[in-house]
Amino acid sequence: MERTLSIIKPDAVAKGVIGKILDRFESNGLRIAATKKIQLSREDAEKFYAVHADRPFFNDLVDFMISGPVVVTVLEGENAMAKNRELMGATNPKEAAPGTIRADFAENIDANAVHGSDSLENAAIEIAFFFAEREIA
Ligand code: GDP
Repeated sequence: MERTLSIIKPDAVAKGVIGKILDRFESNGLRIAATKKIQLSREDAEKFYAVHADRPFFNDLVDFMISGPVVVTVLEGENAMAKNRELMGATNPKEAAPGTIRADFAENIDANAVHGSDSLENAAIEIAFFFAEREIA
């Protein structure tokens, strides 16, 4: 049993598709172990995306992630990390496979609907960034 972190980004929250995205997870064998809607501060977003600090798109990414509330979710299940990445689709929605969350709900690479941990090691770090252990059931 694995745990991974999902973030429904501000574009998808603004579109009103939180429920539709959470349904993708539950319909595909992932359990919602914890979830909450929050507004990230600039400091939160900079810390969360620190690995991308040297990339040219870093400031745009941080501005976007604080442009509205997000929904952070701990997903649990067999192969949860890889399963979530598969359900998300490619980073650029134009390259995302049909039926994936990004193909169906995202507009472009800046506003691409969801984040998902990309390794089990990062999943543990990202979950601890947002949730205390007692909040995960
Ligand atoms: P992910 O794991 O599929 O989310 O992709 P990455 O870890 O490579 O990138 C993190 C996030 O940075 C992506 O989800 C995008 O929101 C953003 N991003 C990545 N590449 C680009 C880019 O070339 N331009 C812009 N504006 N944003 C990007």
